[in-house]
Amino acid sequence: MSEYDYIVVGAGSAGCVLAVRLSESGARVLLLEAGGEDTKEELHVPPAWPALWGTEVDWAYETTPQPGTGNLPHNWPRGKVLGGSSSINAMVYLRGHRNDFDNWAAEGAAGWDYEDVLPYFKKMETAEGRDPEYRGTSGPMRPKNSADPNPLSEVFLNAAKELGYPITEDFNGAEQEGAGWHELSIADGKRQSTALAYLHPAMDRPNLTVHTGAHARRLLFDGKHCTGVEYERSGNIEAATANAEVIVSAGAVASPQLLLLSGVGSAGHLREVGVDLVHELPGVGENLHDHPLLGLVFQADGEIAPGTANHAETSMLWRSDPSLPGPDMQFMFIHVPFHPPHLQAPPNSYTFGIATVPESRGWVRLASADPKAAPLINPNYLGEDSDIQRLLLGIEKAREINATSSFSEWGTTEVLAGEHVQDEAGLRDFVSRGTGTYYHPVGTCKIGTDDGAVVDPELRVHGIEGLRVADASVMPTVVCVNTNAASIMIGEKAADLVLGTGTGRKLGEAQTA
Ligand SMILES: Cc1cc2nc3c(=O)[nH]c(=O)nc-3n(C[C@H](O)[C@H](O)[C@H](O)COP(=O)(O)OP(=O)(O)OC[C@H]3O[C@@H](n4cnc5c(N)ncnc54)[C@H](O)[C@@H]3O)c2cc1C
Repeated sequence: MSEYDYIVVGAGSAGCVLAVRLSESGARVLLLEAGGEDTKEELHVPPAWPALWGTEVDWAYETTPQPGTGNLPHNWPRGKVLGGSSSINAMVYLRGHRNDFDNWAAEGAAGWDYEDVLPYFKKMETAEGRDPEYRGTSGPMRPKNSADPNPLSEVFLNAAKELGYPITEDFNGAEQEGAGWHELSIADGKRQSTALAYLHPAMDRPNLTVHTGAHARRLLFDGKHCTGVEYERSGNIEAATANAEVIVSAGAVASPQLLLLSGVGSAGHLREVGVDLVHELPGVGENLHDHPLLGLVFQADGEIAPGTANHAETSMLWRSDPSLPGPDMQFMFIHVPFHPPHLQAPPNSYTFGIATVPESRGWVRLASADPKAAPLINPNYLGEDSDIQRLLLGIEKAREINATSSFSEWGTTEVLAGEHVQDEAGLRDFVSRGTGTYYHPVGTCKIGTDDGAVVDPELRVHGIEGLRVADASVMPTVVCVNTNAASIMIGEKAADLVLGTGTGRKLGEAQTA
């Protein structure tokens, strides 16, 4: 059996960062990735990202039928390649509002409030021409606004301005709310996945071993001490030992799946599927949530130019209720039609992507004890009526923005929901038919100290030694924006927690600073 100091499972947004940072210490690191090398051409061509769905770089999961959305199952793409979902995502680079992180800390994730995570957001990026109080100057990610914006993106901002919404110059800076250009993970015209930004430059380190095509089957234990990982590679079952720690970074679907396959989870569920219990931890796989995304689509008379970047260059962050401490709503302005596959819209259309931070919670569970079988995924879309109500408010606000003089010269006609859909019953029906994934699942191994928590604030799995989880699954609540930047930040902070160093404040200082 091969031996390392650290084994990281999953080379995604967080896993690549973690493996590279751990290897900087001189430790021997093994990074296991079920997918292959990131050589497929479309991975690197920003506008081609939707063409990656269902290909060999996508796990192509499907949810259980969702009662909230007409009992339909939803396709759930997740990256299965070096870089993970950062290699197939839509490249929007938004960190989240300071309130999102302060809220994590208030919910029990001590050491994760905004002031604590800011140094890691700075460490991960080089943001040229931005305020260095908030932005990094020498990190691997190089986010920038769209280099060649679509004219409609500016129309959206002018329309928001017309209605008096604040305009922010930098969502990742001092003013994180209002309408503005959002940055993209595109550098020199190519996608910046964490594989590109972090892993490839470090690949020739002798103490960093990267195995692609290596599917982790289960964690190995000596009692309640995690000692290594069993994985399948090229049809062979192999195992590796970690002298120090195993860190699971397989994402919000596969991290809880691997814990469950290894006997860490709800005793009742594990009994049902025939997995021997190692440690009872009922929160594993629970608390699953994703932003529900509803596309309000308008056809234009004026010709919409094809996109050269990612098709979505501007956003608006706002509060459904002014008394809230931070935004819970996002408009993503998309200059192409964007809707679930069972709906239709003409090609020369644009979309207000309406998203909310949901109150609904679902779960990830095992379908069987077979490590290669996809798990059951139930995000429970629109399970709570409050989520529907916020999407209805989003429709109202998006219609107001679209009715401004800025948009009028584009000769717009609402095609989804349709101008005739005005009463509450019709609008609710549209919300149910038109809502789908925003690709932001989180929460299934949440940080905390309550009974539902899976990891403690230092990301150690409760009740198990030598095992942490570090990826989007540890977010107690989803940030109010896209989740890639926060997942990379989690990778950065996890490395410091594992190594016991610290770019940021140490745990415990938060209260006194
Ligand atoms: C289509 C799409 C569009 C998106 N658009 C955006 C966007 O524009 N902006 C944004 O901020 N966010 C976006 N996201 C979300 C964002 O990319 C994710 O939140 C983020 O990448 C999650 O990072 P992670 O480290 O938790 O998991 P991932 O990046 O998914 O990494 C998990 C890794 O683990 C590997 N793995 C899984 N199981 C095993 C196993 N058993 N053995 C070995 N390896 C395993 C996977 O193959 C993968 O490489 C999008 C996501 C998708 C899918």
